[in-house]
Amino acid sequence: MPGSLKTEAVVLRTIRYGEADRVLHLYTPERGRVSAIAKGVRRAKSRFGGRLEPFFRLNLVLYQGKSDLMTDTSAETVAGHPRLREHAATIDGAARACHAVDRLFGDGEPHPGVYHLLANLLALLDREPQQATRANALAFRLKLLLAAGFAPQLAGCASCGEREHLVGFSGAAGGVVCGACEASSFVLEQEAHDFMVGALGRSLADAPEGSARALAQAERAILETLEHHAHLRLRPVGRTLAAAG
Ligand SMILES: [Zn+2]
Repeated sequence: MPGSLKTEAVVLRTIRYGEADRVLHLYTPERGRVSAIAKGVRRAKSRFGGRLEPFFRLNLVLYQGKSDLMTDTSAETVAGHPRLREHAATIDGAARACHAVDRLFGDGEPHPGVYHLLANLLALLDREPQQATRANALAFRLKLLLAAGFAPQLAGCASCGEREHLVGFSGAAGGVVCGACEASSFVLEQEAHDFMVGALGRSLADAPEGSARALAQAERAILETLEHHAHLRLRPVGRTLAAAG
C-alpha cells in the first residue's frame, strides 16, 4: 500500500547499487527487517549519505511505492556509535550481531525485542569496548535464539524430562540431555550449562564469563540449535573476539 513510514531502524548492511545509490538492509521495531533504496547517497553532496552505514541507529522516513523496495527519503541519527568503529573487536562483534539478525529475522516478521536487543548491544560496544568478548557475543546469540522461539531447553533433559545427570547437548532434541538419552549428543559440562542459563537470565552488560572450554561447548550448542531448528549456519563468533576475551 503506497505511503510513508516513519520508523527507527538499525542499518544491518548496505550494498552499492548503480552509480550512486545504496540498498540498505534495515532492522525496525515494528516491521522487522525491511530493505530500502537510498538514491544518490554515494555522491559527495548527499545530505545524509554518511549516516547510511552499518551500526547506525536512525530515524528514517521510508516511502513505500509499488515495489517491495522502499525508498529512504530522510535520515536522522539517533546513535552513530563512533567509538564502536575505533576497535577491530567491537567492529567485528557488531558486524556478527547485525549479520545474525539479518539471517535469522529476514522474513519481515516484527520482533521488537530483537530490535531492542541489537540496539542495546551496539550501545554497549560503543560505551564499553572491553565488552566485545566471546562470552558476550555468545550471550547475544542465546538471547536471539530466545527471541526467535528456538531457545534450547536447559532446565531438564530435552528428551525425557530428567532433571539430574544432564551430561550432553543435542541440537536434534533441542537442549540438554541426560546420560540415558545422550545418543547424538555431545558433552556439555556444568560450566557451559551454567553459562547458558546465566546468559539467558541476565542483561548483556552483565553477561557471565566462562572458560574457553565452556564457551566452545556453549557455542557448539548454539550452532547446532540453529542448524536443527532454523536450518541456518552462522559463522562462529571468531578469533578476534576470542582474543579480546
Ligand atoms: Zn533423558
